[in-house]
Amino acid sequence: MITLALSKGRIFEETMPLLEKAGIVPSEDPEKSRKLIIGTNQPDVRIIIVRATDVPTYVQHGAADLGVAGKDVLIEHSGAGLYQPLDLNIARCRLCVAAAESFDYASAIKQGARLRIATKYVNSAREHFAKRGVHVDLIKLYGSMELAPLVGLADAIVDLVSTGSTLRANKLVEVEEICDISSRLVVNQAALKMKYEQLSPILAVFAEAVGAGTQAPV
Ligand code: ATP
Ligand code: MG
Repeated sequence: MITLALSKGRIFEETMPLLEKAGIVPSEDPEKSRKLIIGTNQPDVRIIIVRATDVPTYVQHGAADLGVAGKDVLIEHSGAGLYQPLDLNIARCRLCVAAAESFDYASAIKQGARLRIATKYVNSAREHFAKRGVHVDLIKLYGSMELAPLVGLADAIVDLVSTGSTLRANKLVEVEEICDISSRLVVNQAALKMKYEQLSPILAVFAEAVGAGTQAPV
């Protein structure tokens, strides 16, 4: 049995065309079903539905053989036991610093002010501001980061942006780009050896579909 860990929403939707190319079709739509284990047209392949941030954990412990996770999630998670052979180039967005329209971020930085930064991505944020030589107090949040500057919890946030419409709706502006984000295939290293015959055709189809050879880990 091969177990694939996916999160609902954009990652599931954007992984489907790749799976189809490998001849794998889920028997249910996770948006409609409450089931967390979904069978496929192939009796020895199943899909488990987990939170985006939990995908590396399931794969790392071997509860899933492979999964799809955003680079944002992988940077925050320790990569031990995870083989990351492919950038699938799906669920693309970027990691940014954003602040309220009314906050003069540039002059705060110039004056060497200590900034309060709210984010789900504390490791990425810490590294980014350390590189820039900016002193920050990091405030860990689990969602709705856009709210933090509006109610005085933080001066700025580090969050994912794609179209920018959520920022605009909350009168925030992007002030710095940190990095581009896309989703990667992650594979359990032991499973890759033990189940090589079943896994390698799937990996080959994915690699071909995204027009890539194998790539270095993040
Ligand atoms: P939840 O929304 O359930 O709290 P989440 O925010 O971790 O969980 P999603 O919003 O589905 O889950 O995001 C899953 C992944 O999709 C992220 O880890 C990221 O790689 C990518 N992603 C997130 N936001 C965007 C976006 N605006 N545009 C494109 N990709 C995104
Ligand atoms: Mg989300």
